[in-house]
Amino acid sequence: MGKREIVLTVLIVMALIAGVIVGQFAIHAPATSQAETAEAARAAIASATEPLEKLGDLLFVRPLRMLVVPIVFVGVLVGVTSIGRPDRLGVLGGTTIGYYLLTMAASIVVGLTLVGIFQPGAGADTGAVDAQAERAFVEAGIESRIAERPENLADIFFQLADSLVPTNPVRAAAEGDTLPLVTLAIVLGLALVVIGDRGEPARAFFASLFEAMIRMVMWIIWLAIPGVFFVVAARVGQVGFSGFAGPLLGFSLVVLGGLLIHTLVTLPLVMFATTGRNPFRFMWQMRKPLLTAFATSSSAATLPITIEESIKSGGCSKRASNFVLPLGATVNMDGTALYIAVVTTFLFEIYGFDLNIAQYAIILFTATLAAVGTAAVPSASLVLMAIVITAVNNTIPALEPGKEPLPLHAIGIILGVDRLLDMCRTVMNVWGDSVGAKVLTRLAPDEVDGPPAEESG
Ligand code: ASP
Repeated sequence: MGKREIVLTVLIVMALIAGVIVGQFAIHAPATSQAETAEAARAAIASATEPLEKLGDLLFVRPLRMLVVPIVFVGVLVGVTSIGRPDRLGVLGGTTIGYYLLTMAASIVVGLTLVGIFQPGAGADTGAVDAQAERAFVEAGIESRIAERPENLADIFFQLADSLVPTNPVRAAAEGDTLPLVTLAIVLGLALVVIGDRGEPARAFFASLFEAMIRMVMWIIWLAIPGVFFVVAARVGQVGFSGFAGPLLGFSLVVLGGLLIHTLVTLPLVMFATTGRNPFRFMWQMRKPLLTAFATSSSAATLPITIEESIKSGGCSKRASNFVLPLGATVNMDGTALYIAVVTTFLFEIYGFDLNIAQYAIILFTATLAAVGTAAVPSASLVLMAIVITAVNNTIPALEPGKEPLPLHAIGIILGVDRLLDMCRTVMNVWGDSVGAKVLTRLAPDEVDGPPAEESG
């Protein structure tokens, strides 16, 4: 690793730590202890964090977002044209979807096992938390966001199908919706292969455009140093660590424990078993996207860095990365799946329900799909978890006649810790995608680009 690389990594980590310290000790703690009312504390926090948030957004998050749509379109296209044959693409696509679903299900099993063992919601004072939850739920405006969610699982499928078959890809691009562009890029890429030599100028054009985009990402990474500081200081300043108390402390530890086990044990085992490579070395090679995911809480904003680093440092092939990562950023969310499952179980526990194995199976199934339907932006899973709660609620009349189902406003209980846990689950979402790119590199190495990419980095 070059000297510049070391300096960059050290500076990003220092920016992150400084952001946490400034957010908690220079903004959140003084504002909450000095202000006379909760209202005044909120105003003081907002006036301190708004400029930081704006700066972080302008300096770092917006430049990354600017690249998401073009890099997804051009990257997928380049991936497809270099894979070439439709049958190989089919195998790669099928394996990729299988990888996404199996790893999300595995992460949910880890989360449900931990929440079942530690039961952080058991014995809580339901009456007291219910009133607070309802207030937080309404104040945060989650109700109106939930009203726009897909009604049920069939709606998630249709929404996904709608995105995959766009009527107007330009409008999708303008709205920052990447899935429709993936479809267009795949079909256009195949057409460019099928027309043979006549497709060569366009293939070469997109390949060189992709290289230029990768270079742009390498420049933007330097903006992570101030960007990470501003974004993290604003976020920690807004929410602070005081929410981690009582049952929410136990709940957060279960979430973090689950994320750690899946990140450090399950996914590394999957990677080692399928590639024989050292997963922790790969994790180190992918440190920049993982740190960026932590700071931005958005897999989508992180995507350009994930693509760039997986190819430049992680030894993944362009073919696999350009296919697995853009799709994975929206579809594959191991951290979100685990989180949605643990939150649902925790909330039912708080309201005195004793879930049975069939209800856990419903959570496993619906949380996987809810994670697929979750947008890759901050706190997006709050909306989709309503589907999982409703699916379990539907079983209550048969199992416990006369008992009121879980109110959706119960989601308000976890709002105080959600934003910080979002940072952590987004890291796992990006890590899951990255391991996917590494695993699929075995199936789709870059043969034409010189020595196998696996050996580099
Ligand atoms: N923030 C997450 C992501 O972008 C989504 C979520 O769980 O809310 O991956």
